[in-house]
Amino acid sequence: MTAFAARAALVQPSPIREFLSLATNPEIISFGGGYPDASLFPMAQLRAIYADLLTPANAQALQYTASDGLPRLRAQVAERLTRDGMPCGPDDILITQGGQQGLDLVAKLFVDRGDVIVTEDPTFIGALIAFNPCEPAYASVPMDEDGLDVDALAEILRTTPQVKLIYTVPDFQNPTGRTLSLERRQRLVELAEEFDVMILEDTPYRELRYEGTRLPTIKSFDTTGRVIHLGSFSKILAPGLRLGWVLATPEIREKLALLKLAADTQNGTLNMRAASAYLDAHDIDAHIAGMLPAYRRKRDLMLATLSEAMPDGVTWTRPEGGLFTWVTFPDGFDSAAFQRDLLIPRAGVLIVPGATFFAVGHRPNHARLSYSGVPDDRLVAGVRALGALVREALG
Ligand code: PMP
Repeated sequence: MTAFAARAALVQPSPIREFLSLATNPEIISFGGGYPDASLFPMAQLRAIYADLLTPANAQALQYTASDGLPRLRAQVAERLTRDGMPCGPDDILITQGGQQGLDLVAKLFVDRGDVIVTEDPTFIGALIAFNPCEPAYASVPMDEDGLDVDALAEILRTTPQVKLIYTVPDFQNPTGRTLSLERRQRLVELAEEFDVMILEDTPYRELRYEGTRLPTIKSFDTTGRVIHLGSFSKILAPGLRLGWVLATPEIREKLALLKLAADTQNGTLNMRAASAYLDAHDIDAHIAGMLPAYRRKRDLMLATLSEAMPDGVTWTRPEGGLFTWVTFPDGFDSAAFQRDLLIPRAGVLIVPGATFFAVGHRPNHARLSYSGVPDDRLVAGVRALGALVREALG
């Protein structure tokens, strides 16, 4: 008999994981995974850095280090966040295994069974996976082109005293690509104050802005320490390094650090040393700026091909950055069945059916399309095939 703990029932296979295994098949054109473009990783620079770290003089690079992260890397992250309008120092930063670990640790610290987490509608499925073992209830806030609807949020907060945490991805949200407007960022902090709830701000795509004006983070409006800010090197350096960070008050950071100690002791010293050496020796802002035209071009190509290929009645978002557009099909369209029965067998194209991105109520008539990792000709061919089959399915 397998005597799992009750929480094991809450750990279910993610449909996304099943799709991602298909995505490695070279025949498949995948708009599925939100992977950054691997051809943009700074390979030569990192190769030189790792070669240098793996010499006897740098044996400490393979040694244990501080559980809250390499002090030098924390200082470098703090310096970047300070420049981004969030004044802080190394001791305000916890280094995590990507932003994903920040989601897990924050839920463990704040969420008891039955506490309500407010999410955007739709929201990042990885956050739901991280939160679920804490057995929260969810309330979800509708979005429009300016991000989550703050009036709807106010209504939820007025009527739901159990709300503990508001989870938001304000910049080029996963899955919609939408960005929260400046006024709404401010209003969100006011509402959190008024109703005494925490905000979890998750910003992995923040620096991938291709156009428009950079907006201040939600954290930059926080005067009382109720915003926990998560960030990640995954999209600006490389996700395989598994490096992210949490910026929070000393009290919260300390507790999160103890939870991290229990989870995995520390991030790998070698990767932290490598990222730190990269930041010392190279201009990461220039590296990011160098990547943006490639992503912008991909986005433009996808949006243009969608316009050409999709029938009337299908709409999609126009992200100013990040990796995704969110497609809305007519009511009654089931994108998961469409993908299973038509799109994969007939065209070998992968999308992410939207139903999994809803914390509450699984609306089937959406899909997330990522444009980052597909060569131009395959991107065009894939979107055209998608459009043709959508026409066929809609009759
Ligand atoms: N938050 C959001 C919104 C994401 O889309 C992702 C994954 N791309 C993450 C967090 C986690 O990413 P990572 O752990 O690689 O930093």
